[in-house]
Amino acid sequence: MVYRIYNFNPGPATLPLPVLEQVQKELLDFRGSGMSILETSHRSKEFEEIVEDAENQLLELLKVSGDYRVLFLQGGASLQFAMVPLNYLSTETSADYILTGSFATKAFEEARKIAPVNIAASTQEDNYSRIPRQEEIELNPSSVYVHLTSNNTIYGTQWKYIPDCGKIPLVADMSSDILSREVEMDRFSLVYAGAQKNLGPAGVTTVIIKKDILERANENLPAMLSYKVHAKANSLYNTPPTFAIYILRLVLQWVKEKGGLRGVESINREKSALLYRAIDESGGFYRGHAARNDRSMMNVTFRLPDDNLEKDFVEGAAKEGLVGLKGHRSVGGIRASIYNAMSLEGCKALSQFMKDYCKRKG
Ligand SMILES: *Cc1c(COP(=O)(O)O)cnc(C)c1O
Repeated sequence: MVYRIYNFNPGPATLPLPVLEQVQKELLDFRGSGMSILETSHRSKEFEEIVEDAENQLLELLKVSGDYRVLFLQGGASLQFAMVPLNYLSTETSADYILTGSFATKAFEEARKIAPVNIAASTQEDNYSRIPRQEEIELNPSSVYVHLTSNNTIYGTQWKYIPDCGKIPLVADMSSDILSREVEMDRFSLVYAGAQKNLGPAGVTTVIIKKDILERANENLPAMLSYKVHAKANSLYNTPPTFAIYILRLVLQWVKEKGGLRGVESINREKSALLYRAIDESGGFYRGHAARNDRSMMNVTFRLPDDNLEKDFVEGAAKEGLVGLKGHRSVGGIRASIYNAMSLEGCKALSQFMKDYCKRKG
């Protein structure tokens, strides 16, 4: 048996073992071609088929085949913070941003360099421990789009409803919860996600975009920043991150085998419930950061009574093969990132460790 620990890192994150095994198996000779996929031309028939199949599979999982396109880009979600406003705004138009954490704020700051954008709601005053309620969101009727971050990776909060934005197109950064639950995809005009949390390895970013919105994208942009250019070239305008796209496609297949979004959602519910129960039943020893109703199924954040215990907890867990649990510096404490590829067994092991640790030190 190969040595594998439980990896709770926030991203790049753990990948499904069957996917890694398949990558290993066909690494030297990709499907009888006598070369590695790493060495294969992005203009080859083999690779074109991979891109096409990845696009179709992703749309199928999201149940939106005909009306959307998928782009496989580089630059991470962070480049999308700039590409969205570059493609849709000008100095005369504006968009609404909902600030629910660090990445949402970064997206807003990038857009602000391009256009006079508004803050439609913010939960900064509560240290981003919650998601705003519909009635707290103040939309500007002339906004070109509304931007939200579906899961706040650092703070451990997640939207449980899709806000009503009237006729204004909704744009979402789903980097840390894409394909983790069933979603009414047709409520979103544009969704983007870096792959390194729920979709595959670092290096590729997916953009899922409604065709009518794609048509409205700005022309006259540098080619690499233009959605239209990438869409027209089927994500092969220049050399794409071929290896990352190849692995992403294997991850999509794995999600399908798990029962699609319904299947993974039910496992993700069970996984996160185990950890939140360990927090809630600790008699106050563990304190969750997120408001109960807004708790993330992907990133579970909590504090211990003091910094020394938190450090000791992280070290003790690592000794038992539970790694990557140190929280982000802006929240402190512990963060367990439990994306799709983290197994139920991994969450059971962590939950057991939490209970034992509380009994010993609480
Ligand atoms: C990780 C993350 C990002 C940053 O992604 P990069 O691919 O590193 O640019 C942006 N938004 C969210 C919600 C994230 O979790």
